[in-house]
Amino acid sequence: MAHEGRQLGGSSSVNTRKRNVEHLEEATVDRKITKVHPFFAKPVETKPSGPFVWLDPLGPTKSCLHGINLKPTSHTKVAAFDLDGTLIKSDFSNRGAASDPHWEWWRASIPTKFKELHESGYSIVVVSNQAIKPLALKTFKQKIILIAAALSDVPFRLFVAISKDYYRKPMPGIWTEIVQIFNRDNVVIDKISSFFVGDAAGRQYTGRKPDFSSTDRKWALNIGIPFFTPEEYFLQLPTHSSFSLPGFNVSNLPNLPLLIPTSTPLLPDPPGKQELVMFVGYPCLGKTSFYRRHFEPAGYVHINQDILATRNKCVKTMREGLREGKSCVIDNTNRNASIRKFYIDAAKELNVCIRCFVFTGQIELAWHNNLYRAYNRPFSATPQEPRRDVVPYAAFTGFRDNYEEPKLSEGISEIKKVNWVFDGSEEEKRHWSMWLQVDGK
Ligand SMILES: [Mg+2]
Repeated sequence: MAHEGRQLGGSSSVNTRKRNVEHLEEATVDRKITKVHPFFAKPVETKPSGPFVWLDPLGPTKSCLHGINLKPTSHTKVAAFDLDGTLIKSDFSNRGAASDPHWEWWRASIPTKFKELHESGYSIVVVSNQAIKPLALKTFKQKIILIAAALSDVPFRLFVAISKDYYRKPMPGIWTEIVQIFNRDNVVIDKISSFFVGDAAGRQYTGRKPDFSSTDRKWALNIGIPFFTPEEYFLQLPTHSSFSLPGFNVSNLPNLPLLIPTSTPLLPDPPGKQELVMFVGYPCLGKTSFYRRHFEPAGYVHINQDILATRNKCVKTMREGLREGKSCVIDNTNRNASIRKFYIDAAKELNVCIRCFVFTGQIELAWHNNLYRAYNRPFSATPQEPRRDVVPYAAFTGFRDNYEEPKLSEGISEIKKVNWVFDGSEEEKRHWSMWLQVDGK
């Protein structure tokens, strides 16, 4: 690369440079064609030739591949391993070569170590994130067959998250599947004797780049099992204590009262005074739950654009409610003054007083709650409130980029702040408190 840079950036004529570039590009295209073409012409068979078998993929969209080597038994002790950069060498230089299933052990001692673990009563599982295109996925599956063939006397299970969803580390979906598989065999995993080894550990170094990610360490923290880096586990090197876990964690949230100010009542005092209540805030900050808990029992009409589909329909329903003498809650994000004006103007026409409740949580918390609701709410919570589809990230950045803080001058008589306070069982809180991220967010 350095040589090319010098050549292209040198004092030779523009035409020569152009030809060089074109020539380089043509050569690259030619190489690509000759490399890829035979693969299409002659598909490589992926049928199992050894002890490894792919089972049915797991999950509603089959986004978690699942395979077994030999016949793994469920034991109370689980030895879990990441794949790339932990068991086999990371293949960053070879990412483009989709048709090459070449691989190498991270260290030659790994097969012996696996045999020892198996013989000392551990269930071995391999947990891998792969975000690869269909062609590369085919090669990846071939590579797995080859790796398994080199472990022909060690039973293990393999789980591969192929989408950016609930199965992708640090999301705990694969562990949940493991627990269920073991439960079906009447085995309860002993988390204290189990462990996970991975290279995405968030390690910081002096004089060299930090680990590319910390998702393996976060996965072990989410599950609550001991974590080791490959160096610590396979090479018995001292614990690498300098690491950072970037991203959002609920443990950093300030402890705030639900409402500010606390001096004025949540519902009008005396009760029954007609009003319009407007909610403002990111999606997934508990606006609808807040309505259900506090305003629905007091007979407020619920106006929500997810249900009513258009703003016109929302304004119309609100007018009807107010004309009938009822109070209404506008349970939308209501991000700026021009959107709020539609409702404020209509309420003013009918001489109805307007209060605003601002849900103060920031984008990181809102996105976290979104991932929790869509992916990580424990099964025990499902009967009360079904899992929701994940809200796209654009809905959150759209709010952030267009937000205007509500002001009394918009025609609002009072603005109250609603702070996020988690409401749920201990089990739900444990799941909500995990490191949740999909696609780096
Ligand atoms: Mg890795």
